[in-house]
Amino acid sequence: RAASGAAAAQLRRRLESELEDIRGAGTWKSERVIASRQGPHLRLAGGGAGACGGEEGSRCLPPVPCPCFSLSVPAGIINFCANNYLGLSSHPEVIRAAVEALEKFGAGLSSVRFICGTQSIHKDLEEKIARFHQREDAILYASCFDANAGIFEALLTPEDAVLSDELNHASIIDGIRLCKANKYRYKHMDMQDLEAKLKEAQKHRLRLVATDGAFSMDGDIAPLREICQLAHKYDALVFIDECHATGFLGPNGRGTDELLGVMDKVTIINSTLGKALGGAAGGYTTGPKPLIDLLRQRSRPYLFSNSLPPAVVGCASKALDLLMESNAIAQSMAAKTQRFRSKMTAAGFTISGKDHPICPVMLGDARLASVMAEDMLNRGIYVIGFSYPVVPKGKARIRVQISAVHSDEDIDRCVHAFTEVGRKHGALP
Ligand code: PLP
Repeated sequence: RAASGAAAAQLRRRLESELEDIRGAGTWKSERVIASRQGPHLRLAGGGAGACGGEEGSRCLPPVPCPCFSLSVPAGIINFCANNYLGLSSHPEVIRAAVEALEKFGAGLSSVRFICGTQSIHKDLEEKIARFHQREDAILYASCFDANAGIFEALLTPEDAVLSDELNHASIIDGIRLCKANKYRYKHMDMQDLEAKLKEAQKHRLRLVATDGAFSMDGDIAPLREICQLAHKYDALVFIDECHATGFLGPNGRGTDELLGVMDKVTIINSTLGKALGGAAGGYTTGPKPLIDLLRQRSRPYLFSNSLPPAVVGCASKALDLLMESNAIAQSMAAKTQRFRSKMTAAGFTISGKDHPICPVMLGDARLASVMAEDMLNRGIYVIGFSYPVVPKGKARIRVQISAVHSDEDIDRCVHAFTEVGRKHGALP
């Protein structure tokens, strides 16, 4: 029912005008509706009936052997637009663990952790996360956004300083905004600038360098070895956000710190359970025990928000079990990434970043990125174009994300479609 009154009418006019501005600026974000599980193949709602036997109105390709775990989808759009890096969100054991946790522990706790919201599975998962990252302790949050919102304010005071990469994720930026420490922003991955800022920050009691381990728009990896050397030289701590690294970077999937051999030099890790680790939801901080103890006392998103639902805990816990049992899944990622990057480069495309399954196909022009992404979908490949203000002006791209459960055939089909679409729209000669 629409609210009446002058104020409500004024609000509606203001909102409609703002929405119009967003449309006018070409930055409107629309959502494609998925009508299946999220596997390497999926079905989209409302795109014309297909041959895969999916629901009427779904959009799909003719049947192909499907290597994914989502057996209910015999074929479909090939999905290159998911943070489901290891394909675990549709893994049968992960799904079974969620169902078992739901049945045993119920739908949820209706409460925050310290009132009536801690079950044995929450403690087990925290212990498992700490063991996975080889840290002293861990604390769960409803999301990594919350973990980032909660850490800086709890840890840093006006006597301290935080030094943040200018391209850090929005949740790190927001978390830093909430704290009263002195703020320094260094140029993206620029070690000279970081050193200059560290020198300036010597006057403060404590210095914390904060960076994404892997940057999701460019697929580039923070120079953690150099950051840790500078941190050592200028007596600073290092914080990394590992949302786009946990589970698959490094020989055992521990993340950027393992990949670059600095596991003992990074003090604090925040990461998500909502990407490679089962893809459901949830986030965490792992690090020194006194820090985790302090967060349980002081961190506002932890203190004032509901406990993670048991089914979500069950998914993440099983995903970690699978990764700790064997590094085969984590390792399969690197070969797939390499296949896509080298074939696309050979075809004449420029792929940003290095060695990361986020493979941005750089196109420059926003319209080109958008029409090419749409045309890729017409050929059964789900990718998304990114343009300003999500990425800088003139740096529009299509971001491709490789998953360990893509088959070589999936990857080759993607490259083939890019080559055709690129030629059609003038991105390739
Ligand atoms: N940090 C980074 C680098 C991310 O990419 C994201 C999610 O997009 C987040 C934090 C937030 O994670 P979550 O979805 O668990 O809130």
